[in-house]
Amino acid sequence: MEQEEGVQHCCPTCGEVSPGYDSRKRKWRHLDTCQYKTILVADVPRVKCKEHGVVTVSVPWAEPGSGFTAMFEALVIDWLKEASTAAVSRLMGLSWNAIDGIMQRAVKRGLSRREELSMTQIGVDETAFKKRHDYVTIVSDQEAGTVLFVGEDRKKATLKAWYESLTEAQREAIE
Ligand SMILES: [Zn+2]
Repeated sequence: MEQEEGVQHCCPTCGEVSPGYDSRKRKWRHLDTCQYKTILVADVPRVKCKEHGVVTVSVPWAEPGSGFTAMFEALVIDWLKEASTAAVSRLMGLSWNAIDGIMQRAVKRGLSRREELSMTQIGVDETAFKKRHDYVTIVSDQEAGTVLFVGEDRKKATLKAWYESLTEAQREAIE
């Protein structure tokens, strides 16, 4: 794709205004429309940053590297709180890898917000990975609806480790 001359965008890493380089066609699966799988397609510009080279600018509807829109990922996370990974995989037509990626990004978002976090109501769920005994523990912020932590196993120690990683103020805020 050709880039119009003189177009400038911000580098997604450092925010420096940089000249446009070209653009790439990208696709994201979005929420279904009338039961039909819905794919968003857009030409996303790339910039040539002095420091970071040629990089794709970030889009407001999806995270870098994800093939799903943020709204679609939020729906998957909601379903993972209610159903097993196998059920979500089957009903939403998603691979284990895709679900894992969505979960990892949710955890990362939770971690990056962690310092300013103050949750009053948390939810703890377990969900089975595959049919066997590979359980994970999911802690979520009930009000914000965000995932705070995904830990291996469903043991007391898993939850305890997370709880102990919180600041004192954060612990006190939990009702
Ligand atoms: Zn940069």
